[in-house]
Amino acid sequence: MHGLMQRTPLLLSSLITHAAENHAGAEIVGQSVEGPIVRSSWGEVARRAAQLAGALSRLGVREGDRIATLAWNTPRHLELYFGVTGIGAVLHTVNPRLFLPQIEYMLRHAEDSFLFFDISFTDIVAALAPKLAELRGLVALTDRAHMPALGLPNVLCYEDLLAGEADIYLWPRLDEDAASILCYTSGTTGNPKGVLYSHRALLLHSFCAAAADGLAVSCLDSGLVVVPLFHANAWGLPFAAAMVGAKLVLPGARLDGASLFSLMQTERCTFAAGVPTVWFGLFDYIDRNRDALDLSRFCLDRILCGGSAAPRVLIKRFDETFGAFLLHAWGMTETSPIATLGRLLPKHLGLDREARYDIQSKQGRPVYGVEVAIFDPEGQRLPRDGRAVGHLKVRGPWVTAGYFKGEGGVVLDAENWFDTGDVATIDADGYVTLTDRAKDIIKSGGEWISSIELENAAVGHPDVLEAAAIGVSHPKWVERPLLLVRCKEGKVVEKQAMLDFLADRVARWWLPDDVIMVEELPHTATGKLSKVSLRKTYADYLLKKAAE
Ligand code: AMP
Repeated sequence: MHGLMQRTPLLLSSLITHAAENHAGAEIVGQSVEGPIVRSSWGEVARRAAQLAGALSRLGVREGDRIATLAWNTPRHLELYFGVTGIGAVLHTVNPRLFLPQIEYMLRHAEDSFLFFDISFTDIVAALAPKLAELRGLVALTDRAHMPALGLPNVLCYEDLLAGEADIYLWPRLDEDAASILCYTSGTTGNPKGVLYSHRALLLHSFCAAAADGLAVSCLDSGLVVVPLFHANAWGLPFAAAMVGAKLVLPGARLDGASLFSLMQTERCTFAAGVPTVWFGLFDYIDRNRDALDLSRFCLDRILCGGSAAPRVLIKRFDETFGAFLLHAWGMTETSPIATLGRLLPKHLGLDREARYDIQSKQGRPVYGVEVAIFDPEGQRLPRDGRAVGHLKVRGPWVTAGYFKGEGGVVLDAENWFDTGDVATIDADGYVTLTDRAKDIIKSGGEWISSIELENAAVGHPDVLEAAAIGVSHPKWVERPLLLVRCKEGKVVEKQAMLDFLADRVARWWLPDDVIMVEELPHTATGKLSKVSLRKTYADYLLKKAAE
């Protein structure tokens, strides 16, 4: 017997309709690419998304057409999130930090019909557009006064495009399984692969993001979204915020510590979301300007942090500086992205700070909607005992079932598990602790050393800004850890001092065979340490040293 409830499709357009009707006045504040701070609202975003939808229809964009963006977190990019998906077209958010050939590959692979770009990316567009035959038009996300001189045909001005269009749009009743957003994984090896989100998946994910034990986004919040709109839907924040009418603060291209500090202060942010590197930049700014800064005007309640492991030192600094709780999250582009969140359980409430930081350092417990489990290399499920280390697999309604155009072949096993490529433990309470990416783990004489744990321990040193631990060839143990350390400006940490520091924090046999001070560490386009290039550079380092 069927239930007698309405079969309303779960569509992203329902979010902007809801926001316009119920939270029209809630603010959207953005750092524009042109310079000034722009003040908009959910009502304004809804009206302009409707105008955009009208313009796209007029340009002949149809359901399923891909529309690419090369853009920062700005109100205009947010309008595209709703205007493009609302008409059933697919928003392809491109990471502008990737190498030019990778961007070209993605635009070609996605067969994008239009490319909307921030004027700061004019050079990329000028280099690529002539090569892309599928592109029917380019749209500069600016007004007439700031139009770049590209010298290409088919360059439209966003504000001109919207002008004259009706500010209401009758959003079509699409199939909830229709594609809505396309986001390519950064692809540390091989070509990037496209994750194609359905409306249904992202809508269900928004309920999870907004929930009290999720990201707990509410209409009382003012959230600084540093995580890019081009990376895994900015962790679903645009949709969760529209659902509840939260104020959003979008930092544009200015991601330095000073700019973020100023936005968080003036916009009275209650939460901020970003990867650990961004927050180290913030504290670097605070440390340099301590005496001149007024921290009393902050109302920061929590930091949403993921993308790579949040070191304990960061958790502690947010607590001590702002009284803010660092909510550690783990997920991936393929999981929309929220999968586990580091919320506390009732039994943790009485813990002292240090013991609480231990819990917060873990990657968190699965949210409803994502099942997690660990498996040994033979595919046997491993226990949730906090000790067994295995390959982390996930499944659920917002986990990918395969990549765009079948790239990478079949990605699910017979029981629908998706192998994340991460290696983890899960404890009896369900807390996942990531020990490594499968390919980053350091295999010393058959035993595994967690590069994440070594790095987290190293950045606990007050003079260290960043650290990377990699496994390099060793004549006896096959692989041994090598630690690369980037110190804070003007600071030096000698090898022995670092080893002494680590000796209190990790097992003796985990201690790196060597410690090298470096000026810079390489990062991928999503801000993670690029260990592939480090491993290449230092592959024979210990072998050569042994031969000397
Ligand atoms: P991406 O698809 O670019 O978002 O990358 C996803 C990958 O980032 C995951 O598979 C993890 O390896 C890593 N990652 C994400 N969140 C965390 C976290 N909290 N701690 C450690 N690694 C993380």
